[in-house]
Amino acid sequence: MSIKENIENLNLKIPENVKLLAVSKTKPIEDLKEAYEAGIRDFGENKVQELVYKEENLPKDIKWHLIGKLQTNKVKYLVDKVYLIHSLSSIKLLKEIEKVFGKKEKIANVLMQINIGREESKSGVLKEDLLALIEEVEKCNYVRVKGIMVIIPKGDEKNNRKYFKETKEIFDYLKVKEYKNIKMEVLSMGMTHDFNEAIEEGSNLVRIGQGIFGERNYNTGGE
Ligand SMILES: *Cc1c(COP(=O)(O)O)cnc(C)c1O
Repeated sequence: MSIKENIENLNLKIPENVKLLAVSKTKPIEDLKEAYEAGIRDFGENKVQELVYKEENLPKDIKWHLIGKLQTNKVKYLVDKVYLIHSLSSIKLLKEIEKVFGKKEKIANVLMQINIGREESKSGVLKEDLLALIEEVEKCNYVRVKGIMVIIPKGDEKNNRKYFKETKEIFDYLKVKEYKNIKMEVLSMGMTHDFNEAIEEGSNLVRIGQGIFGERNYNTGGE
């Protein structure tokens, strides 16, 4: 099936209140153009350089999402390019974002990435460390937290729902709090193979790569 047909099929399955983020990592500009023509305006990349390159070569009404691990020395390239950083995963990174965006007097919109599967190899904050991160967010002037992002452990598919539910509980818990600089609007969870379950459990943004663009040539993994 073509990229256009994949998107049309997904649009039928995804409710209107759920955002479809097209994960275009490793894919060439032509593929993104095809998705753009089929109505996609939100694209997700996991590498800063690739995001910047594509941003410069595609229409300006696209919203670019950084979904991969972000190294502190790359933050500077994202100012004026990125719409939403999904991968805020440490206080160190938060402070760098505050500093770099602050220098240009720009606001950075971010999601807190939670390591819900407690995987050592994965980034994201453990849930018991969330409050410490939130305390630091409240001190910022240039960072706004818009919600939560989660990547479910691979090879543990039968537990997807458990992880989705647990994440939604955290999201709902934070939603009613009145922390400075924090507004729980976006719950980014669900990918090609589990987006239906994620939506049933309360996701309002699904990140879909292979389900739109076909298999990737090399496995870049979750991060
Ligand atoms: C690659 C990636 C996706 C998309 O995965 P698919 O299985 O291709 O849908 C979603 N989220 C993150 C963080 C990714 O790195």
